[in-house]
Amino acid sequence: MNLIGEHTDYNDGFVLPFALPRRTVVTAAATGEPGWTVRSRGEEVSFGPADLRPGAVEGWAGYVAGVAWALRDAGHEVPGARLELISDVPVGAGLSSSAALECAVLAALTGLAGVELAGMDRARLARRAENDYVGVPCGIMDQAASTLARDGHALFLDCRTGETEQVPLPLADAGLAMLVLDSKAPHRLADGAYAERLAACRTGADLLGVPALRDATPADVDRIDDAVIRRRVRHVVTENDRVLATVDRLRTGDLRGIGELLTASHASMRDDFEITVPEVDTAVEAALAAGAYGARMTGGGFGGCVIALTDADRLDAVREAVERAYAERGFTPPESFAALPSPGAQRLA
Ligand code: ADP
Ligand code: MG
Repeated sequence: MNLIGEHTDYNDGFVLPFALPRRTVVTAAATGEPGWTVRSRGEEVSFGPADLRPGAVEGWAGYVAGVAWALRDAGHEVPGARLELISDVPVGAGLSSSAALECAVLAALTGLAGVELAGMDRARLARRAENDYVGVPCGIMDQAASTLARDGHALFLDCRTGETEQVPLPLADAGLAMLVLDSKAPHRLADGAYAERLAACRTGADLLGVPALRDATPADVDRIDDAVIRRRVRHVVTENDRVLATVDRLRTGDLRGIGELLTASHASMRDDFEITVPEVDTAVEAALAAGAYGARMTGGGFGGCVIALTDADRLDAVREAVERAYAERGFTPPESFAALPSPGAQRLA
């Protein structure tokens, strides 16, 4: 779950994810034979060493084969194994069940192989499985959060340098809670719009003569004549600043103070980046009206999840306010749960 920093990753900027208390658990046993068998959600798929080439295994097992491929490609022995997965991470809801799957499988396979990898190397390997084996062009954020996240912390990640910092986010100690709402908005034109935003950012950086929008300043924004490109650039520039401001406030323990930055991030996505939809705008407005300190859509846009920062004892009131607002507008009821920043992939036994 990204606390703040949306569409900043591919602009060499900053993101601040934390890991949810949802788990994909992998049990793994070496078989002593080449090849892998993997079970999940009542399905079983087997593949052999010859399948460790991009695209050879399709469907969900491709994520597993992709991890084995990325490990082998990095020079590691991958022992043949039988793997079983159980997961309570919502699939395809923008909560990165794919990264959870990759990072859990990676932890299991490296555990069997007796290989120790540094956190960021694990994140890069897992990302490689998704980018180059499955063929999904995602950034590094989800895998970094899945591997590096710590209990009670958010992970400040500089997408240009790969540097990370653990930033305290002790919500429970502060009497706070984070409500995660799956907006249930039907996906509308998301793929084309994503490519269009990426291209607009590239154009903006070229117009300003900077390597990436990470290098642009608020003063630069006004130098762009094209109104649409200007709005897109303004989102990225101000969003990077909001991530830095959020980190500053969290470092001083001002947890409630980040609420206004979350809400400003949402307004920027709505008005400048234009990637929100009525469902998420409704959820954010209702949460704020019910007393949340801040709320925003998270993820790539056009639906997905909304997070709301609230006093723990207001959580149910905020949830009910959103449900009422949804009912009034005839939207599909949202699903929601409370989330505390949780540890990333780890060995359980
Ligand atoms: P998200 O990462 O937002 O949940 P993605 O489309 O990136 O959505 O990844 C979802 C895909 O990941 C699923 O369609 C499936 O192929 C795979 N996946 C995720 N979790 C599991 C699981 N527990 N078992 C099998 N496949 C899974
Ligand atoms: Mg994914």
